[in-house]
Amino acid sequence: MIEQATIKYCKRCADMGREATHPLTAFNKNKSMPDGLGFYCRQCEHERTSLYRVRNADAIRQRTRVAALSPEQRAYRQTKALEMYHRHKEEHRDEARERSRRYYGERRDTPEQKLKNKLHNERYYTQHKAKAHAAHRDYQHRKQILTTLLVWTLQSPNRLQVFPTLYATFSQAVYVRSTKSEDTSA
Ligand SMILES: [Zn+2]
Repeated sequence: MIEQATIKYCKRCADMGREATHPLTAFNKNKSMPDGLGFYCRQCEHERTSLYRVRNADAIRQRTRVAALSPEQRAYRQTKALEMYHRHKEEHRDEARERSRRYYGERRDTPEQKLKNKLHNERYYTQHKAKAHAAHRDYQHRKQILTTLLVWTLQSPNRLQVFPTLYATFSQAVYVRSTKSEDTSA
């Protein structure tokens, strides 16, 4: 394929809401791409790598620390983390409801509509079993991430200060990605 363009579009830059068309020199070379250039611009590649390293570094440190714990210590932290998770969930129930309302719209369903939804969901579930299973696995995975975050938080008192921010980031990410998996009736 002959590529004669002198500028290239970077989708990530566009997603970040900044100038998305760059000169070709802003892209790394990548032989596996049709145009021989990276999919993302150099800055995006850099940001992606740094982000990945930062996140991974934490995960690795975390795994090492947890591995060094005795089973009793581990169980204790898990319990504490779960307690904290439930307490936080309880304390932020209204916010969760509000988020849910924004997401699903202002409507309040009648019992008939609720039943209809339920039946629809059940039909959808049987029709999309594989997808539903994947979504469930995804949900479990996110729960696991949250637990890891909580365990991490409990390892030092000053981490409690950053917990709300981290938790907000996570729960938002979790919320955006989940569709029907969060029960809003509880
Ligand atoms: Zn970019």
